[in-house]
Amino acid sequence: MTSPAAAIRCPLATCGRENSLPVALCSGCGADLRAFAFASRLNDYYFNRALSQARGGNLASAKRQLRICLALQPRDEEAQLLLGRVQWALGEKKSAVAQWRRLLATSVDESITQQATSCLSVSLVVPAKGTGGRRKGGRK
Ligand SMILES: [Zn+2]
Repeated sequence: MTSPAAAIRCPLATCGRENSLPVALCSGCGADLRAFAFASRLNDYYFNRALSQARGGNLASAKRQLRICLALQPRDEEAQLLLGRVQWALGEKKSAVAQWRRLLATSVDESITQQATSCLSVSLVVPAKGTGGRRKGGRK
């Protein structure tokens, strides 16, 4: 429900410092982060719109808002999680599962990984190809 990003990570590969919002200049390298902070606020706006539309059952619109949200901040894990839920509800189950698996593989946020795990357990699906089963040569 809450929107992401009370902080913004410096996008410069040599820096990557986490900066609390509001921020003008990166505390690590001095880079101007105002445009990124603005994008972060836009990202929140689209996330909240998507959430509201998803709750209202307007899933196609929610999905569009989430695409914009993720274009602004591709690493927004709450948006990725919600996109998976919306995709699932739209019947796009493979995409939903891929979304949740990606989060499980990449997120270090325990709340996010717990929610992704919960979504996956409800989905009752077989692992997608190439997503790293536990054993090779298991049951056929
Ligand atoms: Zn920086």
